[in-house]
Amino acid sequence: MRIRIFDTTLRDGEQTPGISLSPDQKLSIAKKLDELGVDAIEAGFPVISEGELKAIKMITSEGLSAEICGLCRTRKQDIDAAIDGGLNYIHTFIATSDIHLKHKLNMTREQALEKAIEAVEYGKSRGLQVEFSAEDATRTDREFLKKVFSEVAKAGADRIDIPDTVGYATPEYISQITKDAVDASKLPVSMHCHNDFGLAVANALAGVRAGAQCAHVTINGIGERAGNASLEEFAMGLQCLQWDQKYETGIKSELIYETSRYISSLVGVQVQPNKAIVGDNSFGHESGIHTHGVLSNPLTYEPISPELVGRKRWLQVGKHAGIHGMNAMLEEYGITPTDDQAKQILDKVKVLGDQGKQVSDVELLSFASEVLGDTGIKRIVHLTGFSVSTGIGTMPYAFVKLNIDGEDHIGTDYGVGPVDAALNAIQKITGKISEIRIKDYGLASISGGSTALCEVTVKVEDADRNKVSAKSVGEDIVTTSVQAVIDGINRIMLKKMLKEKLAKN
Ligand code: MN
Repeated sequence: MRIRIFDTTLRDGEQTPGISLSPDQKLSIAKKLDELGVDAIEAGFPVISEGELKAIKMITSEGLSAEICGLCRTRKQDIDAAIDGGLNYIHTFIATSDIHLKHKLNMTREQALEKAIEAVEYGKSRGLQVEFSAEDATRTDREFLKKVFSEVAKAGADRIDIPDTVGYATPEYISQITKDAVDASKLPVSMHCHNDFGLAVANALAGVRAGAQCAHVTINGIGERAGNASLEEFAMGLQCLQWDQKYETGIKSELIYETSRYISSLVGVQVQPNKAIVGDNSFGHESGIHTHGVLSNPLTYEPISPELVGRKRWLQVGKHAGIHGMNAMLEEYGITPTDDQAKQILDKVKVLGDQGKQVSDVELLSFASEVLGDTGIKRIVHLTGFSVSTGIGTMPYAFVKLNIDGEDHIGTDYGVGPVDAALNAIQKITGKISEIRIKDYGLASISGGSTALCEVTVKVEDADRNKVSAKSVGEDIVTTSVQAVIDGINRIMLKKMLKEKLAKN
């Protein structure tokens, strides 16, 4: 069965607290969603602002394959604005639950129903495709909801939508009212599920099982409050879980990860690491038992292959690591220790892991070099001296002393702030030696307060365009930044050296 994907990243997703997009940004996201293969894009709420209308005009003129839709209240002016925006498809809504009718709309049930019918009729008279939503459907009196759906169907609606506006429904209840909606309207039914109890995707799937043929979803599940059903979880759930029938969508799954990253960086909302399908950790393995299993057959600990959603599996060593995973990582660098050597390296890894430290491949390689003897694998760059000065009425200034392959180098420089000065001073040294440049710098605070931990991520690039990223966590922003950069430089130099070494062998 073919399930329709209605993406509302640009409408409900944009209603995430703190997100506001320019027309150009909205257009670029619409293009990405179109490439991904969504069936419909809810581009925005045309009546709310000039910029919103401009964005919708830009999107409707782009000639995308997806249908483009706009949100409207049941008001003529909203529907007229949609038409001004070049839309021929609207999603019109009015609340039907007593709690919304009484405290928000100040209307009776009959008045709301009348408004709904008028809006559908008006939209149809203007030649539009009309999808009707009974807002807060899951807290609406069940008999009244049936009546609303049957009346808007009679008024000419093309589709109806069941919004679980506050994410309050259970999959069982969704199943019941979806059947009601299908029976009452005889129209294609969509699900619009919110994630307040973490059930958005489960509810959307329950709706499909009960006869719905579409879900409103967003990339990364962004949206009001706890967000909406996430596109990636819903689409992959339909495609990969154990059902008694086959479900298909138009989504090109191998583009999911790239789209997720693109939207996360554009809207400035980070994806939680343990997020299904697109989180940093969803295809990462550290524990020895898991890495061993995955290396012998990925199906042991991966329900789907990472390539299916455009990702790669990664392994990390730490205190949970086992020999197999560690050897697999060392092998990437052409290093094959004996069983005894491997055990010694792993012991060192576990000591560091027990101190709560992350073991990067640089540490792993330097342990390997200690155990295997100096075979050219070692931490090449050491930070041996460092100070910064900053304040008001003075230019931030940094002094950095690095030992590179046994030789001392000193760099000093100014910057717009202490971090900038420190990174400039490092680049003065490394730029001379190996043309390494810092391409990207990101800073995030992990906890609140002035003693918060900060997390610094950097990307460095060498003259051959090799790129690596490195991450460091610490209390002092400047020191942590310097450590992340030095780690990145070590990785890139190691990579280059090992590549050359392997090429010779
Ligand atoms: Mn919503």
